Amino acid sequence: KRKRDQEDLQKLQDAVDKLDLKSDEIVKFSDLPLSNATASGLEASHFQNLTDIQKAAVPLGLKGKDILAAAKTGSGKTLAFLIPVLERLHRAQWSEYDGLGALIISPTRELAVQTFEVLRKIGRRSPYSAGLVIGGKSLQDEAQRLHRMNILVCTPGRILQHLDQTSGLQTDNLQILVLDEADRIMDMGFQQTVDALVQHLPKTRQTLLFSATQSKRISDLARLSLKDPEYVSVHEAA
Ligand code: ADP
Ligand code: MG
Repeated sequence: KRKRDQEDLQKLQDAVDKLDLKSDEIVKFSDLPLSNATASGLEASHFQNLTDIQKAAVPLGLKGKDILAAAKTGSGKTLAFLIPVLERLHRAQWSEYDGLGALIISPTRELAVQTFEVLRKIGRRSPYSAGLVIGGKSLQDEAQRLHRMNILVCTPGRILQHLDQTSGLQTDNLQILVLDEADRIMDMGFQQTVDALVQHLPKTRQTLLFSATQSKRISDLARLSLKDPEYVSVHEAA
């Protein structure tokens, strides 16, 4: 069975490597090289066709690129980063014992909760543990559960508090960092918090930055945490 798994994984990796970024043949999620767990989670959640931002960002994300993406509210940015997150962990053969593999930062509690809900839906067939870190409970209570989590969806201030104060929250192995609504994160004055947060993370990681607008401050943020980013921007067709 082990050997079979390794062969499947190699096939998947080959398919991702071969994925043509300029192709318009990717219309449905089933056109993408995905793990069975993610494919089945998407199907069970009734997601079938990719939105424009998903078409532009998901293949790049699967290939492990850093991305700076802008697309308006409602365009489907959540799946555009959650799919690469789940697939990155799958291809790294992440297990419940491997600790924190992915960190997703949202500007507000409400947005973090929404993202977490989508993750629970499309990740329902995936083996990873996921937690929401948005405060509202004592730091200690929250800290107890953090050790076991593979994916965390958090607000900037709260996760920084844990990184500064909670021993045992290991970030050494982190594979992928997502900043969702990066423009709002900046508008809300979290630049220094994000700066400090990134100091806790390993430099070799994938970083995905999503926002509704492209602004100069976003590129400032990008300079801080992205390597050779691919710029993806989707505008509404006239
Ligand atoms: P954004 O973060 O860009 O504002 P969301 O990720 O919140 O957008 O998605 C907006 C809405 O579109 C949600 O209700 C979501 O379920 C839906 N949606 C996202 N992607 C798809 C898709 N590929 N097919 C159908 N509906 C989608
Ligand atoms: Mg969003």
